[in-house]
Amino acid sequence: MSNLSFITEEKKEENTDIPLLGLSPKVLKKAALTNYPNPISKTLHSLTDEEKIAKVEKHLREVLEILGLNLEDDSIAHTSYRIAKMYVKEIFSGLNPDNFPSLCFIEDSSVRDSDQMIVIKNISMKSTCEHHFVPMVGHCHVAYIPNKKVIGLSKINRIVRFHCQKPQIQERLTAQIVDTLKTVLDTQDVAVFVKLKHFCVTMRGVEDEQSTTETTLFKGRIKTEPNFRQEFLLKIGSTP
Ligand SMILES: [Zn+2]
Repeated sequence: MSNLSFITEEKKEENTDIPLLGLSPKVLKKAALTNYPNPISKTLHSLTDEEKIAKVEKHLREVLEILGLNLEDDSIAHTSYRIAKMYVKEIFSGLNPDNFPSLCFIEDSSVRDSDQMIVIKNISMKSTCEHHFVPMVGHCHVAYIPNKKVIGLSKINRIVRFHCQKPQIQERLTAQIVDTLKTVLDTQDVAVFVKLKHFCVTMRGVEDEQSTTETTLFKGRIKTEPNFRQEFLLKIGSTP
């Protein structure tokens, strides 16, 4: 088996002779925050997750009561807690850069001049529209040309998921995925295509159930060299 193969979780256990390298804390922070940060406040950052959940729950209880719900009813008695926990631990966990996935990679000089483009298709995406706090769901396709570094394929899914787990707008989400991949893979040559259904369009407003939004961002040689761009578009074009 070629040592250019990607490391899956299973292979990591089998091939203990491959030296896995970690990213420095500085690079991890840059990868998590990107050059396209979310609008975040500095003031609440010192709170623990449990403190955040308690505060969010308290305010959500008030919101639900103002809406006229009876929180004495068993069915919704713990809804405010469930939502608070879901926000902090799951769907907005990406607001805390400490939750950035741990990444390791192998360095292989033979990939540097190989000019092979790696395309990872149909990565599922579930995010939240920051204007309405309702879901945006869909998928993305990612491509990069390696520059020595090769990371496990599942790590790309984890990077996408990390950026999805914040209140987002699709354009920033796309840019963040590109920017993080450039940082962790140490390459300029990255492309990302994102297709999402926005529930703020589906459930409310114009209530359109069919429309989707597509964003594409090319960087480096995938932007400047038509053959790479065409290869990427050809490969993703086969996806409905
Ligand atoms: Zn929206």
